[in-house]
Amino acid sequence: MKALVKYDKGPGNMEIRDIPEPVAEPGQVKIEVENTGICGSDLHIYHYDIDIPINPPVVTGHEFAGTVVAVGDGVTSCAVGDRVTSETAYSYCGSCRYCRSGFYNLCNSRRTLGYWYNGAFARYTVVPGDRIHKLPQSVSLKAGATLEPLACVTHAAIDLTTIEPGDWALVSGPGAIGLMALQVARSQGARVIVAGTSIDAERLAVARELGAEHVIDVTAEDLAALVNDLTEGRGVDVVLECAGSPHAVDAGLRVIRKQGQFTQIGLFGKPVTIDFERICFKELKVTGSLGSKRSSWESAIELVASGKVKTEQLVSHELPVTDWKNAFELFENKSGLKLMLRPGE
Ligand SMILES: [Zn+2]
Ligand SMILES: [Zn+2]
Repeated sequence: MKALVKYDKGPGNMEIRDIPEPVAEPGQVKIEVENTGICGSDLHIYHYDIDIPINPPVVTGHEFAGTVVAVGDGVTSCAVGDRVTSETAYSYCGSCRYCRSGFYNLCNSRRTLGYWYNGAFARYTVVPGDRIHKLPQSVSLKAGATLEPLACVTHAAIDLTTIEPGDWALVSGPGAIGLMALQVARSQGARVIVAGTSIDAERLAVARELGAEHVIDVTAEDLAALVNDLTEGRGVDVVLECAGSPHAVDAGLRVIRKQGQFTQIGLFGKPVTIDFERICFKELKVTGSLGSKRSSWESAIELVASGKVKTEQLVSHELPVTDWKNAFELFENKSGLKLMLRPGE
């Protein structure tokens, strides 16, 4: 079968290769992949500038859904014909303090699908049976392939942030993750302002369609004035920073209220300068987030199944896996929203 393989360490070193179909060993599930989303981290694997262990040659891709075609001995989580997706935490130690408290996303020994183990930019992939989540009837395979990034968002916005009904939330960065964060915040009862820049006009229009109370291009309008107006000078209760931009962090720290919660979701990819002292003067609660855990997946699936979060319309491109270079370029040029590769084509 064709697979997009990172065949060596270092920048580049990725190509379509013909590799043998994987086999489901005891405890494993073999899935015929329908769609696999391109994640920012796939680009980092390509450029080799990410701090997550990689084990080349490895098939990349970790945001996927598909149909079970074989189960190994002892698998009870699913059966042949089930529509499923899989968590990406392929293996972890199971005994450290993080694993024991359910935060296996933080385990030092965590090894990830598409980084360490062969992933889903291939027609078939094999995963451990107990990482499987079955898709409810109302969740399409396309939406199923968005559950991994959505689980990262629910981890940040639900597991690690407390949003109260009626809260004002600022989401900065209206990419696919930001547009998921908008909807997750709304599902918790927040009123949401989505902030972007002059290149985000189309994305901000989508944000409005998806229920943002206000959208703002911060290069043309005054965010602080808008927030002042809406909150009677108090500031927003929650900031979900999805842009990974120091400007967005600075803006968020200015318009957040005292004792507000600031959650960093976007990655900067480099050290940045931030006025950290604002955290003291406002007694802020600041957190970051990394990946997802079981509860984040359960929330993500429930939100999509109930229609509270719509992710299918975030998928702007579906290309055959052989077109990966073109798709990676589109991603880097910020064209479209969520790009997917179809490994069967
Ligand atoms: Zn991802
Ligand atoms: Zn562990």
